[in-house]
Amino acid sequence: MHEGDTLVAGAGLCDEQAVETLVTEGTKYIKQLIEWGGEFDREGGKLVFTQEAAHSRRRIIHAHGDSTGAEFVRSLIARAGQEKTINLTPFANTESLIVRDGRCVGVRFLDPVLRQPREIYAKAVVMATGGAGQLYQHTTNPPVATGDGMAMAYFAGAEMADMEFIQFHPTALNLEKAPRFLLSEAMRGEGGSLKNKYGERFMPRYDERAELAPRDIVARSIVAEMRRTGTRTVFLDMTALDEDFLKHRFPKIYETCKFYGLDIAKDMLPVSPASHYCMGGIRTDLWGRSTLPGLYAAGEVTCTGVHGANRLASNSLLEGLVFGARAGSAAAADSLKAQVSSPKSQDARPVALDLEHGTQISTAVKKRVKRIMWERVGILRDKDSLKRAIKEFDQIAAGNLSTSSRNFVTLARLVATSALWREESRGGHFRNDFPEQDDKFKVHSIQEIGSPIYGSEKISPSVQIKNQ
Ligand SMILES: Cc1cc2nc3c(=O)[nH]c(=O)nc-3n(C[C@H](O)[C@H](O)[C@H](O)COP(=O)(O)OP(=O)(O)OC[C@H]3O[C@@H](n4cnc5c(N)ncnc54)[C@H](O)[C@@H]3O)c2cc1C
Repeated sequence: MHEGDTLVAGAGLCDEQAVETLVTEGTKYIKQLIEWGGEFDREGGKLVFTQEAAHSRRRIIHAHGDSTGAEFVRSLIARAGQEKTINLTPFANTESLIVRDGRCVGVRFLDPVLRQPREIYAKAVVMATGGAGQLYQHTTNPPVATGDGMAMAYFAGAEMADMEFIQFHPTALNLEKAPRFLLSEAMRGEGGSLKNKYGERFMPRYDERAELAPRDIVARSIVAEMRRTGTRTVFLDMTALDEDFLKHRFPKIYETCKFYGLDIAKDMLPVSPASHYCMGGIRTDLWGRSTLPGLYAAGEVTCTGVHGANRLASNSLLEGLVFGARAGSAAAADSLKAQVSSPKSQDARPVALDLEHGTQISTAVKKRVKRIMWERVGILRDKDSLKRAIKEFDQIAAGNLSTSSRNFVTLARLVATSALWREESRGGHFRNDFPEQDDKFKVHSIQEIGSPIYGSEKISPSVQIKNQ
């Protein structure tokens, strides 16, 4: 069962209502995406389903072999382009949220065409800026995944939940001069095995589910095996599979590996873990409402409670679809009641922003934060490493920083603070000094600017009350 698999992967911290919403409404939105032109892989006219880690059966559709996310984006943008009431401004960089009388009433952004800072007012703002994988030195995420949407929401007064839960993907390509390209979970789902430098398959020694164990277990097993054998890599072996099948099933991976001199049908592929997904984010209810009235959120920037302490593979695109639709309809419905007295609602207008320090994250800050996160707030954590990380983040934050640099280091501090607070190991969060799961911590960590961190049994209810 999809619901059961999601709850097991979430290690006791999933919001059951959120998971139920995901699995019951998911099919409806997938069908809608197909009606809107989404093209998913088929055989004989029928959709092809694959299996990924911790799924008990084949239930995952894919597009163009291994480009499912790109197909979601392509079909959604094409659909949005058909709506006359939607104005798309590609490459606009949002800098901060505008808050008046405790309500989010708009955004400040850098207009890419006019090359000018501007602000735009609205009765509702929906944040969909994605995750924060770039906080780490090694990541599968694109350069834009810096998590600034999370930091903007935090600075504007929204609550953040479960920031300590970061998913590390076990198998990112590990070649010196190549980016950490993702070698998809589905490769193990289709029969790939993990081997150490001696060519020995090691996963059965760590977990009875072997290569199909949840990601956090596979990632930690790889780290343990690398330490045991004194190496910085293990290998993904796909050589038992048919070459034509591999070319057809994983075309992008096949081509990328070929570009770097590897034939996935013949060579052992060097892999190691890399940061991949943030389970935590802006605390929302089941309709994408944050705790800041007027601010809604959907996708990886949120914590809806769907993923708990660990995301089940491929649940994120589905979460974006289901809760994106819900956030959109709640934003529209709530807007009818909202009284917002702001200048020229919906018209973007020029504004003076402090651009003295530039709008980008400084290279030095980025490099230092990423290294600290990888070494001290990474796959294996403990009290000392986390305290040292927080101290270093405070030193960095005391400097004269651009807004983007401040966002970046603040977000890193939020992850480290919640990881220090959670004195147990659960899902994507592993403490060497507290290696067991402890039911005292079967709660969500909540952080809000100006208040101490605390644990909450629920993600949703208090959020709804505050927004009424
Ligand atoms: C390599 C890889 C493979 C994956 N494969 C799968 C898979 O097969 N199935 C699955 O379910 N999930 C998969 N995931 C996870 C999934 O892709 C993400 O969780 C999902 O894309 C998140 O969607 P999103 O819309 O929330 O954010 P994103 O897709 O990250 O989109 C966020 C957008 O916001 C923009 N943005 C960011 N900051 C700002 C700002 N300040 N101002 C303006 N715009 C901004 C970004 O440029 C980006 O366009 C994969 C992730 C990676 C990295």
